[in-house]
Amino acid sequence: MTFSVTAIDGAARAGLLPTAHGEVPTPAFMPVGTKGTVKGVHPEQLRELGASILLGNTYHLHFRPGEDLIAELGGLHAFMGWDGPILTDSGGYQVFSLRHTITRVDDGGVTFRSVYDGELARLTPELAAEIQRKLGSDIAMCLDQVPPIDVARAQLEDAVRRTTLWAERQRRQERAPGQLVFGIAQGHSDEELRRRSIEEITALGFDGHALGGLAIGEDRPQMLETTAWAAPLLPADKPRYFMGIGDPEGILDVIERGIDMFDCVWPTRLGRTGTALTWEGRLNLKNARFVRDARPLDEGCTCPACARFSRAYLRHLVNQNELLGLLLLTLHNLRFLLELTAGARQAIEDGRFAAYRADALARIAAGAPEEASWAQAP
Ligand SMILES: [Zn+2]
Repeated sequence: MTFSVTAIDGAARAGLLPTAHGEVPTPAFMPVGTKGTVKGVHPEQLRELGASILLGNTYHLHFRPGEDLIAELGGLHAFMGWDGPILTDSGGYQVFSLRHTITRVDDGGVTFRSVYDGELARLTPELAAEIQRKLGSDIAMCLDQVPPIDVARAQLEDAVRRTTLWAERQRRQERAPGQLVFGIAQGHSDEELRRRSIEEITALGFDGHALGGLAIGEDRPQMLETTAWAAPLLPADKPRYFMGIGDPEGILDVIERGIDMFDCVWPTRLGRTGTALTWEGRLNLKNARFVRDARPLDEGCTCPACARFSRAYLRHLVNQNELLGLLLLTLHNLRFLLELTAGARQAIEDGRFAAYRADALARIAAGAPEEASWAQAP
């Protein structure tokens, strides 16, 4: 029951990650079920789209409906009707991205006001472990301190120190049966601090490792450069998780640099704003050029949107803010990314990942001139 790398192509890897609720083929894109649901999508549909693992948010589930209630009802899998693998984050990213709610960060933990009711709350490594144990996720993440991109170096260094301290404590806590725990390295793109964080976190013996504190506002070339040298510093025999990337180019770029897992709310959020990710680039269906467009979003796509509906109809639904339209675009965007990732996995197995990536980028470049690129995720 350990992670195995089944093929290597350049720095890119294909692998299999066994969990208590099934195997995850990697590279794996993880759709985000923030509040115990991938918004609007039935678990059966997620299966059919090709999702092998979902992500749940500790922060939100802790406040609503609470981990004790979920545990009483059989854990998160039973509660949300998904019997496949689930990764839960630690809540740290939410707390630190809702920066204005933080009242105090110390070595014990972080104190903040809940976005739900404004009440003071505190998250510690012990509590992050306890919540994720009660949720019963297959993979639990360590609580880390994620400083903003423009933080002073001394504070970044302090966040690296504290992230290690918290990881040491969380690692000693009780786990759910079969639960894997991943450590997270911080340090932005600062080479010394990122290396130090990776050394300290990987020395603790986690089941997998994540690069945190990237894709938080630094420019894309810097993010990719950091990933290129940082990913190989993570143990090769454990899964490597890039937290927070979900645009097609970014996915191919991090896979190319040796990353095995990634997640982002962006593709589903984008779908709910009426934008489709396609082999012609990003299509904003509100654009008037789709009024009489009888084609599906993507020729050859097998998703429920493309199997039956035209761009013109989807445009109409989006413009009328119809639930079906937003749902269909969500399904299509998920299918697109899951298929792109599965294709990348096959290409790595076949030793042709570089050609696969080049072909994918060329296909969109040949698409509609005004939307000829998958714009980068924010
Ligand atoms: Zn589709």
